[in-house]
Amino acid sequence: MPIKDRKTADSYYEASRNLNIDAAMVDGDLSGDVVVIGGGLTGSSTALNLAKSGVDVILLEAEHFGWGASGRSGGQIINGYAAEQDTLEELVGMETARELWEHSLGAVEYTRQLIFEYNIDCDLKMGYLHVGVKPKQAQELEQWAEHLSRVYGYEDMTFLERDSLRTRLASERYSGGVFDAGSGHLHPLNYCLGVVRAARDAGARLYERSSVDRITSDSRGKIVHCAKGTIRCDQVVYACNAYLDGLEPEIGKKSMPVGTYIVATEPLSESQALSLIPQREAVADTNFVLDYFRLSKDNRMLFGGRVSYSTLQPLKLTESLKKRMKNVFPQLGNTKIEFSWGGYVSITINRAPHIGQLDHGIWYAQGFSGHGMALSGYVGKLLSEAITVDRERIACFEKIPHKRFPGGSWLRTPALVAAMSYYKLKDYL
Ligand SMILES: Cc1cc2nc3c(=O)[nH]c(=O)nc-3n(C[C@H](O)[C@H](O)[C@H](O)COP(=O)(O)OP(=O)(O)OC[C@H]3O[C@@H](n4cnc5c(N)ncnc54)[C@H](O)[C@@H]3O)c2cc1C
Repeated sequence: MPIKDRKTADSYYEASRNLNIDAAMVDGDLSGDVVVIGGGLTGSSTALNLAKSGVDVILLEAEHFGWGASGRSGGQIINGYAAEQDTLEELVGMETARELWEHSLGAVEYTRQLIFEYNIDCDLKMGYLHVGVKPKQAQELEQWAEHLSRVYGYEDMTFLERDSLRTRLASERYSGGVFDAGSGHLHPLNYCLGVVRAARDAGARLYERSSVDRITSDSRGKIVHCAKGTIRCDQVVYACNAYLDGLEPEIGKKSMPVGTYIVATEPLSESQALSLIPQREAVADTNFVLDYFRLSKDNRMLFGGRVSYSTLQPLKLTESLKKRMKNVFPQLGNTKIEFSWGGYVSITINRAPHIGQLDHGIWYAQGFSGHGMALSGYVGKLLSEAITVDRERIACFEKIPHKRFPGGSWLRTPALVAAMSYYKLKDYL
């Protein structure tokens, strides 16, 4: 799955999409106030909120809406960030870390609000299990829940010893875990398409199959160039995430695409599905190369894991994910895999999101580091407010320091592969 592979994912989500949004391709010369590049959750929410504020906004997508990570994801909507709160405390200090935590809770809440307000049919289910394989990891999870309660007043988490966890998750693999009532899961593609529809209905102009090649400017403003036309505008938002692919090197240097993969089984019987995860929570372990899984509404096991830091798809992907799934649930030994797909997440060095203003009228959000399902839609709202009200709205995100990945685009991948192999090894120690 090279980054330039523009195929549509052969995913369970594409097979169960409940909405088609057909938009034209940019053909000729257009103009608007703001151009948003990227039709995932970040872009569609930015466009929705700008349109609601009366801004003439154009949303451009290189393929079709929801084609990127937003339509391929594990669908887990989780509060917090890929960078832990204690990492954020060190990076930005306690006061800003508190603001960021509140934003992360706001992100889950905003997801629920969008689903409710725009009547988006996307199988939302609250409830989440963070689980530890090794006893030390279970202990760390307990300390983490205690930290979030003591420092941030977050009371939605309950620590579960091995035996209590076993009543919620029929696997012998885990030593303990934390139940979080404030996180959950949904059908990511149907959610994203629902937000795109809301943006269109609010007045955003949508274009698909309209990849942006470059952006120039002259005395009258900015010009966004696509293969068959241009768009004049005052402001531009980069919402391209892992698929930015050289379009804006300044932000590209601070993020890196990493492949992650999911398989979906054939539908299980209701009783078999509930014998595995009776309360249907989403689950993720705390390994560096983590397993994440959940039941779909039609009782398939959606099991994600494996990563690729080399932008090459791992060999025998389906078999290896099936093996990982059987490690967790030997009960699924004879179950068929019906779908297998992957996509790219955009990671930053510190795993905190990279959000801000590059230059006058140029905004960006990327680097959700595999933790953007709730956050990206919310960040779209904040970006819109930064554009229409004031930049203060994203100030605490702009305080997060981000370094460039070492090496140019050729060197950084092998360096990262070596570094990550070290961390992968640590999962087994
Ligand atoms: C397999 C997988 C599993 C994941 N699981 C989870 C999970 O369980 N929980 C979680 O929180 N997060 C998860 N994530 C991450 C999450 O999906 C992302 O953080 C989030 O969807 C990012 O949304 P986005 O809109 O910023 O980016 P995307 O959804 O990737 O959208 C970017 C869009 O920009 C378009 N684009 C790029 N360049 C151009 C251009 N030049 N011109 C026009 N358009 C362009 C792309 O075609 C793409 O559609 C997962 C990601 C993957 C790939």
